[in-house]
Amino acid sequence: MNRYHGRVVAITGGAQGLGLAMATRFAAEGATVALADVNGEALAEAIAHDAKVRKEVVDVTDSARVDAWIAGITDDLGRLDVLVNNAGIIRDNRAEDITDEDWRAVLDVSLTGSFHCARAAFGPMKRQGYGRIVSFSSMSWRGNFGQANYVAAKAGIVGLTRTLALEGARHGITANAIAPGLIETPMLASMNGPAREKLTGKIPMRHTGRPEDIAEAAAFLAAEAAGYITGVVLDVDGGISI
Ligand code: NAD
Repeated sequence: MNRYHGRVVAITGGAQGLGLAMATRFAAEGATVALADVNGEALAEAIAHDAKVRKEVVDVTDSARVDAWIAGITDDLGRLDVLVNNAGIIRDNRAEDITDEDWRAVLDVSLTGSFHCARAAFGPMKRQGYGRIVSFSSMSWRGNFGQANYVAAKAGIVGLTRTLALEGARHGITANAIAPGLIETPMLASMNGPAREKLTGKIPMRHTGRPEDIAEAAAFLAAEAAGYITGVVLDVDGGISI
């Protein structure tokens, strides 16, 4: 399939995990992909850097850097069709033990970072009368023990997405979110063993997901043909949220 031929897709946190799987998928479907990540080393090793893959070290918490990243994409490539707000971090602890630093860090990357990127992308998307924004929530957004900061950020993504959907609708811009369950990435590997096993046992499908499962959902939501779908949160979780 070449349905992304001529499309420009920007992905944050694209150096590994879900971001890398989505980059690989969009590139395979013909897109030019712009990857941003704070981890320059991992970014350098992520999929080949060629005419159809741009890589830049960008910290999404830095709004001026995000503005420059998006402006660079539209200046060089002439358009921006898809923004994938994927960058996110975890700093798990019980609410009473979360430090100010860990609260802010998680909200800054996942929620504020997504806002920075969406704000920067909105202008070019409005001008071209076309845009697809896909942001990353989590199955945790409904509440999860030991993740107050992450849950607040991921529930915030739902509110941000629904509002972007309203504001973008008349301009040809859709905004949707994906709420992954347990997906095999470095982030999941960093979760402690017993907690991971306990959660895996609750998945109706009895197994964790693969990054490609999420790439499938992102490629669907960001497609031109999905233009009448906006403001939704798509659970991709083997049934754990049922
Ligand atoms: P990951 O940790 O494997 O990858 C995240 C990437 O984001 C890394 O490359 C990291 O360097 C980058 N990043 C971190 N801070 C950044 C910043 N300030 N600016 C730019 N890039 C930054 O994580 P993942 O598992 O691939 O998760 C991707 C997204 O999916 C996250 O938003 C995460 O919360 C969400 N999610 C993942 C799972 C899962 O099971 N893996 C479940 C639910 C939600």
